[in-house]
Amino acid sequence: INHITGIVGVSIVIVMMQSDMNARSALEKDMRQAIARGEYRFHYQPQIDESGRVFSVEALLRWYHPSRGSVSPMEFIPLAEETGLIIPIGEWGLRTACAQLAEWAKSPQTAHLIIAVNVSATQFRQPDFVQEVKSILLLNGAEPSRLKLELTETALADDIDAVVTKMQALKEIGVTWSLDDFGTGYSSLSLLKRLPLDQLKIDKSFVSDLLSDERSVAIINTLVDLSKTLNLTVIAEGVEDEKQLSALKSIGCLSYQGYLFSRPLPISELNDLIMSEHAVSHTPNSLELVY
Ligand code: C2E
Ligand code: MG
Ligand code: MG
Ligand code: MG
Repeated sequence: INHITGIVGVSIVIVMMQSDMNARSALEKDMRQAIARGEYRFHYQPQIDESGRVFSVEALLRWYHPSRGSVSPMEFIPLAEETGLIIPIGEWGLRTACAQLAEWAKSPQTAHLIIAVNVSATQFRQPDFVQEVKSILLLNGAEPSRLKLELTETALADDIDAVVTKMQALKEIGVTWSLDDFGTGYSSLSLLKRLPLDQLKIDKSFVSDLLSDERSVAIINTLVDLSKTLNLTVIAEGVEDEKQLSALKSIGCLSYQGYLFSRPLPISELNDLIMSEHAVSHTPNSLELVY
């Protein structure tokens, strides 16, 4: 009997693996077709400066699948990385962001905005990455200094000279670099010192623990000091309430992103928000009035 239940158990596992694989390959096939079908969209989440104004937005990928509905990037980006589909998706993202920058450049109310685009390690690792970014900027007539690229520490694990060379080549034309989810990876201080970064982005896990865990306060303090030492700006992600905001302020972190200010918004809603900000721009903290 044991023998039989063993066989049954093994076959159940095999059937489960099989259906898992089928589900994965169905997802992969859909993901492959989604670009041509126009199912990817960016939502844009405001980044707020010291005066409470939107100086930048982060482009966050959304997939509107006809039958699956809205699929979270947490679900499909890992699979896109594994299958290499992140390359065409990433290219779509750069084209979309640069086209948006060119659009915003036409109006004095939006021309100041920066778009931050997440770049996956796989995408960054492509030998022609620098050329690709340059030609997409050029083709769309986008101003390079309005494009901010977000890398995570995993992208830095490779040959450091190659990493620095790539970053430098784009920095020379005005593109800026932000290190995303900072504090969760393994980058050493000597590595950080060598990178031509512009911004450190404090991971939201530290922000969410800020009020309950003294160690998170100490870590954020250290990260803010570090950014000053290295002459970088610093931004906190995942700011959800006023208490976190004032704690961050008192630590000396002066740029923020999070639900307290706004969720990631479809482009039309973001444009409305920017316009309403202009309408009340005589007040010091316009966003807080709007929300
Ligand atoms: P990320 O780059 O660290 O983006 C921040 C994530 O935190 C976003 O999740 C955002 O919606 C969420 N968030 C923002 N404010 C708050 C807050 O106050 N509280 C909480 N709890 N969460 C907040 P999202 O949009 O689900 O994206 C998840 C991750 O997927 C991103 O993390 C990024 O790693 C990846 N991703 C998104 N879009 C792209 C893309 O176009 N390309 C690549 N390669 N990766 C992307
Ligand atoms: Mg990011
Ligand atoms: Mg992040
Ligand atoms: Mg994150």
